[in-house]
Amino acid sequence: MLSATDERMFVTKSFLPPLGEYEFYIKKIFENGQLTNQGPLLKELEEKLKTFLGVENFHYVTNGTIAIQLALKALGIEEGEIITTPFSYVATTSSILWERCTPVFVDIEPDNFTIDADKIEAAITPKTKAIIAVHVFGYACNIEKIENIAKKHNIKVIYDAAHAFGSLYKGKSLLSFGDISTCSFHATKLFHTIEGGACIVKDKAISDKLELIKRFGHQGDEHFCLGINAKQSEMNAAMGLANFPYLKEILSNRKRICDLYDSQLQGLIGRPKKQEDIVYNNAYYPVLFKDEKELLAVFAALNEKQIYPRRYFYPSLNKLPYLKDAASCPISEDITKRIACLPLFNDMTDEKVNLVCDILKGSLK
Ligand SMILES: *Cc1c(COP(=O)(O)O)cnc(C)c1O
Repeated sequence: MLSATDERMFVTKSFLPPLGEYEFYIKKIFENGQLTNQGPLLKELEEKLKTFLGVENFHYVTNGTIAIQLALKALGIEEGEIITTPFSYVATTSSILWERCTPVFVDIEPDNFTIDADKIEAAITPKTKAIIAVHVFGYACNIEKIENIAKKHNIKVIYDAAHAFGSLYKGKSLLSFGDISTCSFHATKLFHTIEGGACIVKDKAISDKLELIKRFGHQGDEHFCLGINAKQSEMNAAMGLANFPYLKEILSNRKRICDLYDSQLQGLIGRPKKQEDIVYNNAYYPVLFKDEKELLAVFAALNEKQIYPRRYFYPSLNKLPYLKDAASCPISEDITKRIACLPLFNDMTDEKVNLVCDILKGSLK
């Protein structure tokens, strides 16, 4: 367990609301006795998040992985090829495999690490059913180009927007694009409900289907389709409601921290290129080293001071040991070897940012 005096610094640290504010919601649960099954706290949280994001068909579910699986199921994709990115958390690929589809990897843009839309069409075959792209680290995919390709080839678009909560593209939430966008509210994410996730669905009929399949596929005694249990508990919704009022503060604190990192590290280390039309959520602070050797040297220096950055993301997902015949993705394979995320959490002080930067600079010399 971490004690209050523990000086170790990790890449993320979960935001915790004042205990009394969580208790306020837990008391409500004890009063009304409803623990799960689309309870009042879950509905209240869904309404708040819908308003915050400016979206219509919003489903709060148990995690961000099942959200991707529900998305595939709701879109009727049961087999075939899914074009996806090799640069993401493993859940993007594993949920495709778990749904018995085949991931087809398309390499990424070196500038912002999202799927390279110019390379998608060459990977489309008669078996292609969908594109699952990731707004990785909160940076936007090439939304217009991906939408045009999908229309032209009559395939679906799912965005794994697990990192994109709070990012805006052309003034709209990054979670409002594609046929379905999914999100994660895991404890390590910018906004969390301990465990949790969401599906944001464009089409009302598909949203209704998702509503059914996330609750076993039946209503009362009438069974409509194969379903699963992705219902979220009231205890988790309570954490979301207690965290919600702090969202603006969380976003602005992260911006302050990232601005300080920027000013300290400018010109010393590789950074994603700033995008137009984007308001970033500052969910992560990725840095790109010259090579893996430099990364490992900086990690060793930081680890010595009990600072633990993470290799987000490593390995390139096309290199997962349980995949057969995955296409090579040279850009992703190169970047995954030399990219890392620096510590970034809500109550990170300027001193801590400066400490990380000083060690990093010392080790780069
Ligand atoms: C965290 C994450 C997920 C999985 O979300 P869980 O809520 O942990 O299941 C999926 N995709 C990406 C890109 C993630 O970072």
